[in-house]
Amino acid sequence: MNTDKLSARLAAVAKYVPKGASMADIGSDHAYLPCFLAKNQGVRFAIAGEVVEGPYQSAKKNVLSEGLSDVIDVRRGNGLEVVQQGEVDCITIAGMGGALITSILDNGKEKLDEVRRLVLQPNISAISIRKWFLENHWRLIAEEILEEDGKIYEVLVAEQGEPYKPYHSKREMGLLFGPFLIENQNEAFKKKWTAEKRNWKRIFDQLESAVQTQETMEKKQDLLSKLQMVEEVLQDEKS
Ligand code: SAM
Repeated sequence: MNTDKLSARLAAVAKYVPKGASMADIGSDHAYLPCFLAKNQGVRFAIAGEVVEGPYQSAKKNVLSEGLSDVIDVRRGNGLEVVQQGEVDCITIAGMGGALITSILDNGKEKLDEVRRLVLQPNISAISIRKWFLENHWRLIAEEILEEDGKIYEVLVAEQGEPYKPYHSKREMGLLFGPFLIENQNEAFKKKWTAEKRNWKRIFDQLESAVQTQETMEKKQDLLSKLQMVEEVLQDEKS
């Protein structure tokens, strides 16, 4: 990968960064995303934030060798501490777990007041990000799901505003599967949830044949409700 051609995963993130944005990419690693955006998408100003020395040095080296130091500031620090309030209008965080992404957002909440758009790409637990949006008054406006090199990734895009809007009546289902993704089920979506369904069923069967305690009963109940939801979601598409 280089800064002219992103992976399909990062390209799906880049697509949602508005032209002319001032942005921060938190956990930027090689700074491929801000470099690509500065070169190809008219980003005015970018911060590439990194907490670890190795990736921070690699980001600095790439930005320098691309001649982008005027546009991209590489800063070392934890999460949003590298951003000053009012400095950026878009934040991207990609390639981490959903829980780590929400903890980064939580720890820097005051930096989000003037941010208009969040583009987040959790490797796991997109549900924790959708819940965070609901609790923090961010409205999910778009979602993508894609497969690359045998792995399935989700991209969630949100802007400040009425957070319940995309969910309609079946909120629990929307939080788990993604309200936009349910409506437009592609191959990656079907593959992910068919595999999850098989996995939940396998665990359910194991619990069925174990000694029944309060804990196993609760786990079974939780799996049963997820299995019902996944069947309904995948069924909806067939009908
Ligand atoms: N964003 C790039 C991508 O999607 O290809 C890199 C993803 S890499 C798996 C995650 C990066 O986030 C690592 O370089 C790690 O050092 C950095 N990171 C993890 N926690 C962080 C935090 N709290 N603040 C800043 N960077 C963090």
